[in-house]
Amino acid sequence: MRILGIETTCDETAAAVVGVGFDGRGEILSNEVLSQIAEHARYGGVVPEIAARAHVEVIDRLIARALKNANCSVKDIDGIAVAAGPGLIGGVLVGLTTAKAIALVTRKPLMAVNHLEAHALTARLTDGIGFPYLLLLASGGHTQLVAVRGVGDYVRIGTTIDDAIGEAFDKVAKMLGLPYPGGPHVEREAAKGNPERFAFPRPMQGRKEPNFSLSGLKTAVRIEAEKIAPLTASDIADLCASFQAAIVDVVVDRTRVGLRAFREIAGHPAALVVAGGVAANQGMRQGLQRLAVEAGLKLVAPPVNLCGDNGAMIAWAGLERMRLGLIDDIAAPARARWPLDTSRDEAGAKA
Ligand code: ATP
Ligand code: MG
Ligand code: FE
Repeated sequence: MRILGIETTCDETAAAVVGVGFDGRGEILSNEVLSQIAEHARYGGVVPEIAARAHVEVIDRLIARALKNANCSVKDIDGIAVAAGPGLIGGVLVGLTTAKAIALVTRKPLMAVNHLEAHALTARLTDGIGFPYLLLLASGGHTQLVAVRGVGDYVRIGTTIDDAIGEAFDKVAKMLGLPYPGGPHVEREAAKGNPERFAFPRPMQGRKEPNFSLSGLKTAVRIEAEKIAPLTASDIADLCASFQAAIVDVVVDRTRVGLRAFREIAGHPAALVVAGGVAANQGMRQGLQRLAVEAGLKLVAPPVNLCGDNGAMIAWAGLERMRLGLIDDIAAPARARWPLDTSRDEAGAKA
């Protein structure tokens, strides 16, 4: 079985082919990602109209390249998976319309995948883990602790009440004059800095509900930065290191509480999984690794190139759904908003 996956929900245009062997394990046959960072950098963030236009300009070429690098033609593909949301609607429409056209012409099944579900299931592609597992989804738009009990069976245990983790990284980067997207730059600066120079708050630490709140931390960084301005290179490094240390502490504490909640509703987890763009952060991975050891669990973190947005995760989620007969209608809508935990009802209704 081979699935073509298409991703256009934000500022990455991506196409990939993922296959599956007799053992049921996934295999990435090609994975093409074109980032639009250069187009958005001077605006300090993603501009939706620019993103949609850039997707249109490259999508056909990228799909052709993904097929070629997988050594196949569209005839060899068994289904087309596409991220139908959540995301910037103009971009989503580009990918979805393209996928529908291919599905119609080739008469192959269409899987309209939830982008968050694709992040959530990546650990099964890379590590073949079973259900259930505790997922920390930490991306540009989302911060959630989710009990993943099966394909389409997601129970949200905790979430952020204000900023997403990736968003906090991006905003701190911006206030310190670092380029967009800020996460990788903050990490690079943090590696050079002193994480103990600034005692930033650890919001929500110790609370019983496994939720997050990050806007106070971001404000604390701003206040400190204004106090010591003009900033030297080592000030910036220390601010980043101290900010990252605070966020890792918060994430570890919140995830520890999430594990307790998980056990109440889903039993023993097969693994602790982290996914989404922020999962690329080494400090985050090390913190979660310590927690995993403490809890006697395996930490599964995708390779860095599968943490950020990519086509392989979409293809894999489509493959998982197709195996269960969860095929979508050609009229499947594009969705700007699409909470992960509603896909259970939809999967149930269709099954
Ligand atoms: P969502 O998946 O919620 O719809 P998105 O698709 O925009 O949002 P991703 O592409 O999964 O998000 O992740 C992008 C985010 O990850 C950005 O906020 C970026 O700054 C952050 N990020 C990427 N690398 C790192 C890193 N090394 N450290 C911290 N944050 C990072
Ligand atoms: Mg992106
Ligand atoms: Fe994403």
